[in-house]
Amino acid sequence: MDLTYTDDQKAFRDEVRSFLAEKLPKRLSDKVAGGKRLTKEDYEEWHAILNEKGWLGVTWPKEHGGTGWDAVERHIFEEETTRAAAPRIVPFGLNMLGPVLMKFGSKEQQAHYLPRILNGDDWWCQGYSEPGAGSDLASVKTTAVREGDHYIVNGQKTWTTLGQYANMIFCLVRTSKDGKPQEGISFLLIDMDTPGVTVRPIVLIDGEAEVNEVWFEDVKVPAENLVGEENKGWTYAKYLLTHERTNIAGVGFATSALSNLKRIAGLEQSGGKPLIENPFFAAKMAQVEIDLMAMATTNLRTIAAAAAGNAPGAESSMLKIKGTVIRQEINALTRQAVGPYAMPFVSEALDEGANVSPVGPDYALPATQSYFNNRKLSIYGGSNEVQRQIISKAILEL
Ligand SMILES: Cc1cc2nc3c(=O)[nH]c(=O)nc-3n(C[C@H](O)[C@H](O)[C@H](O)COP(=O)(O)OP(=O)(O)OC[C@H]3O[C@@H](n4cnc5c(N)ncnc54)[C@H](O)[C@@H]3O)c2cc1C
Repeated sequence: MDLTYTDDQKAFRDEVRSFLAEKLPKRLSDKVAGGKRLTKEDYEEWHAILNEKGWLGVTWPKEHGGTGWDAVERHIFEEETTRAAAPRIVPFGLNMLGPVLMKFGSKEQQAHYLPRILNGDDWWCQGYSEPGAGSDLASVKTTAVREGDHYIVNGQKTWTTLGQYANMIFCLVRTSKDGKPQEGISFLLIDMDTPGVTVRPIVLIDGEAEVNEVWFEDVKVPAENLVGEENKGWTYAKYLLTHERTNIAGVGFATSALSNLKRIAGLEQSGGKPLIENPFFAAKMAQVEIDLMAMATTNLRTIAAAAAGNAPGAESSMLKIKGTVIRQEINALTRQAVGPYAMPFVSEALDEGANVSPVGPDYALPATQSYFNNRKLSIYGGSNEVQRQIISKAILEL
């Protein structure tokens, strides 16, 4: 693996930096750096700025309006955007559905949906999980019954992230009960404004309702919204999940969270000295930094392999586990660092224009919220236990 950057790659990094310095609104980067809540409009604003520059479809080929960047350029872009505290890009349309449509969608679906994803015309959400079908996704029960040129959909999805903002949902639906459970699943695109679709919020432990239940009662979906072939949805679903998991590694997020932790540990006191000088706390920070450096190297190895034309396989499971465990450990240490200020959890103060004051210093405010919110990291996108099963089978051949 060659870790030196070429002159072109260094010039690209400079270009990304100056773009961010010029175009990333300070209002947004202040919110991200301060751990404040982003609104739908905030996400849309940054999405539009990147789209205008042509830097939105970072995993997309040029023919579909993407950047056509290679793995190293994508890595540089991710490093620089997280360093500059840019909002994350909501992944459902761009990183999940987009690649599926490019590989398995019809020409009409590609021509219709891909530009709409880039332009922000559609906000997509992911309708995979159901009560009773999370890790065991093949158990999905939501049915889609073909009637003429339509499917009639009935059932319930759960944990639908940001479904309250979405106008479109991609769903796994059961179209056959014959054979193995995996062989009767199809991949369907559903307009959430269709009569019979109901979205109900689920309030999480951090006080936010970023996930939802989505109910379907006799929802009429045009047959042309089927992606690929009927009953072949499992193949497309798995392809999408590989993209979802690699995205979850989040080296950039962990790096900026760690530097925030170090800043806090330098400001907080322990026994009359900065916390960062406390040997027990310093040892814990050092351990997580070592883990992060090791994971960043694994990430670079995967990038180097991808740059050499090898598609990531079970490595995405490895990165998902390490990335999420490291971020949760940093969250736990941050909460520990702010000590008693982690107790009064004034969640509303994270909203712009909130009429309530945080207790303690500003940097303490998001510590508890992030800690609670990021419990999800080791669960969604396929729980870490299940990723370990994948590794044991696919890499260790156990
Ligand atoms: C905040 C959040 C957001 C989410 N967003 C979305 C979304 O937008 N769209 C969507 O479709 N889904 C979403 N999910 C759902 C997520 O993908 C599932 O929660 C996840 O796949 C786990 O499924 P489950 O909740 O049914 O747990 P279960 O599968 O019931 O698992 C319960 C426990 O058993 C363990 N377990 C299960 N099977 C095995 C096994 N074979 N070996 C070892 N251990 C096992 C699990 O690891 C877990 O600890 C989200 C979840 C959360 C928490």
